[in-house]
Amino acid sequence: MYFPSLEILKEHQIDPLIINKLDRWLGLQLPSTYFFLNPLQFAIDMSINTEISIQAFALCTQKSLNIMKVKYRLVCPNCGEYDRVTSNYNFMNESLYNCTQCSAPYNASNFEDFIELFFELLIEPEHNPVSSLIIPKEVNKLLGKSESLRLSNVKDKPSVRRLLFSHYHNQDFD
Ligand SMILES: [Zn+2]
Repeated sequence: MYFPSLEILKEHQIDPLIINKLDRWLGLQLPSTYFFLNPLQFAIDMSINTEISIQAFALCTQKSLNIMKVKYRLVCPNCGEYDRVTSNYNFMNESLYNCTQCSAPYNASNFEDFIELFFELLIEPEHNPVSSLIIPKEVNKLLGKSESLRLSNVKDKPSVRRLLFSHYHNQDFD
């Protein structure tokens, strides 16, 4: 495996087949993309059920596993520009921001469609995953570009919300 730490997902009822696909998929990613991993892209690339994919990524953010960190990219509802990326977005409370682009205030919790979820990989590959010869061939197999995962997509999934919230709850504030 490129990322042996993923084995711990077996203890959380994730199918070994999914773990293996996640390992290979992460191995295919360029290190520059480790900061913005999208579970919907994983689902498309590796033919995984979307819900299972989101569940696995959310599980990876748990403090006990510490494999990924969730990040929220906020789009300003006033100007439509990307405002900021934060790990501290708390969807249980009101979240007031002043847009860094247009300065207008907004309450992000009223605009869950404007909040994109990404995951940052916190672990390093055990060995160099891909050679430059393999990348183009594998990339050609990709079926398409996924949509961003939005907070409104996980709204009706209590288990995922709980996982993401417990991550938020456990982390240090800065
Ligand atoms: Zn704005």
